[in-house]
Amino acid sequence: MPGKRWTSTEKDALQAQIVQEQRSLDEVTIPGRTPYAIRSQAARMNLIEQRPGRMKWSPDQMKLMKQYKKEGLTPLHVFEFSLLGEPYRSVWAITKKWGRMKLADGKRSRSMRNKKQWQPGEKKTFVQFLKKQSRRMTPEEIGKQWGLARSTVSRIQSQFGLKATRDEVLLMKYSLAKQERARRRIRRDNIRHWEDRRQQREAEMLASASELRRTTKRLDERVCEDCQRSWPKRREFFHINEKKISIGTSRYFKRRCVLCENTRRRLHDQKRKRGKSGKRD
Ligand SMILES: [Zn+2]
Repeated sequence: MPGKRWTSTEKDALQAQIVQEQRSLDEVTIPGRTPYAIRSQAARMNLIEQRPGRMKWSPDQMKLMKQYKKEGLTPLHVFEFSLLGEPYRSVWAITKKWGRMKLADGKRSRSMRNKKQWQPGEKKTFVQFLKKQSRRMTPEEIGKQWGLARSTVSRIQSQFGLKATRDEVLLMKYSLAKQERARRRIRRDNIRHWEDRRQQREAEMLASASELRRTTKRLDERVCEDCQRSWPKRREFFHINEKKISIGTSRYFKRRCVLCENTRRRLHDQKRKRGKSGKRD
């Protein structure tokens, strides 16, 4: 019963969750894919060991791993360039061994070092909390409150059948706020980039104008209606308007310089966009 073909986006998501985020298979979520489908796809992509524990690690391969670590490689490099020779090791096997040999650093090991020590009875209270809040709070949010990694929260939720789907999580208040923050950041970056480009353009125009004034005799100028600056009357500084008239086409320079035209266009676009989304906000 082969299902829908896996898209490259789905494959990337699967690889990211297993390799980079080091999630266990039951923590992996791909919208529209069952746990069974996820497991078989992971096996097809060699992301998981299909016959666990079949091949003991030889001292040679372990020595190589240490060496690669010193050279600054990651388990993914080691896998992608088949640096271990025979026997074959999946990314999954290499990543796990990397961790067991304590070669991994960064997030995972830090969270392992900070591993929560449960007080007697605390875990039971936690599960009760999960039963009450799993529909309302995201794993990350719960983790923050309890000093747990998001993946730990997810794992315990899975054990007790309390895990919300990814789509449900995305609609939770905490997620929505996070998405809104991301959107705001993107907007801020856009504005900054736009302003950088504008300043650069302005500097170029000023330089070009003074060069023209220096080298051109009888240069016509025009004062921009908005910024009140005088610019050479050339296409570089003023857009041209075309108008069909009875005897052909009449062309004339606009009354605003290109900088001011661009600013107006941008403001206009923003207003239109805001008008569209205004009802939602
Ligand atoms: Zn202007």
